[in-house]
Amino acid sequence: MKVFLFDAARCNGCHNCQVACKDEHCGNDWMPYAAPQPDTGHFWMQVQEIEHGQAPKVRLEYRACMCNHCDDAACIKAAPDCVYRRDDGLVIIDPEKAKGRRDIVESCPHGRIFWNDELALPQKCTGCAHLIDAGQVPHCVDLCATGALRFGDESDFSDEISSGKAVAVDAGGGRVYCMNMPKLFVAGEVWDPFDDEIIEGACVHLVGEGVDRSELTDGFGDFWFKGLEPGNYQLEVSVSNYLGQSKQFRLDKSLNLGDFPLRRA
Ligand code: SF4
Ligand code: SF4
Repeated sequence: MKVFLFDAARCNGCHNCQVACKDEHCGNDWMPYAAPQPDTGHFWMQVQEIEHGQAPKVRLEYRACMCNHCDDAACIKAAPDCVYRRDDGLVIIDPEKAKGRRDIVESCPHGRIFWNDELALPQKCTGCAHLIDAGQVPHCVDLCATGALRFGDESDFSDEISSGKAVAVDAGGGRVYCMNMPKLFVAGEVWDPFDDEIIEGACVHLVGEGVDRSELTDGFGDFWFKGLEPGNYQLEVSVSNYLGQSKQFRLDKSLNLGDFPLRRA
C-alpha cells in the first residue's frame, strides 16, 4: 500500500506542489485514470494558508491538501459503479463511467472532488497513478524541494506511523498522513509606558496544561510560547524595579495577549 506523508515543519508554502499538479494534468490525458484537468477552478493539490494569532503576533501555517484516498471512502460508497480503489490503495474516479455524475462531487466530506463542466466529469487527485505505474512518484512529490511531501510504501514510513508522529488526515484512515502540525502559541509585549520603551529581558512565566516554562522578552519586548495544547493557563511577568503583572486565560486558539505595560516599583 502506498502512502503520502506531509511534514508541516518542512513546508515553506512555495506552492510548487500545487503548480506541479497543474503542470502534470492540465491539457494532458492520463486515461484510464484521468481526463485532462481544466486550466482554472480545480485544485486537486492545494496549498492552504491558515493564519494563527492576531496582528501583529501572527504566524502562517501551510497545508498541502489533496484527496486523502480514504480507507472508508465516502465517494466509493456513493458511486461504487464509478469509483474504485487500486491494489496500492489509491482511490480513482473512472473518467468513462463517471461521465455526467455530478452527484459524486457532493459525496466527498473533504471537498476534494471538482466538477469539470466541459467534460461533464467529477475529477480529483489520482495520486498520479500513471506515473506510479511507470515506477515514478507523483509529480507534486517530485517538485517539493524541501521534502515536506513524500510518497512511498507504507513500510517506508513505519517509524513515523507506528510512533503516532504521523497521523492519517482522514479520521477513518487513508493514504495521506501528516506530521508536525503546528500547535497553539501565546504571545505578547512588555513595555514601560513612562519611558515609552519596550522592556527587554523581562521574565515571563507560563503555567498550565503540563507546561511550566519561563522566557525572557526579546529585543522587541516580545515573548512567544509555542507548541501549546488547548486549556487554562496563568502567565506572570516580572522584572526588577517594576511592578509585575499576571493574567489567567483560556487557550482555544493561538492568542496575542497584547501589551503588558509595567509601572516602576
Ligand atoms: S478524500 Fe474524498 S474523494 Fe478522496 S477518497 Fe476520501 S471521500 Fe473520496
Ligand atoms: S512543494 Fe513542498 S514545501 Fe512547497 S508548498 Fe508544497 S509541500 Fe510545501
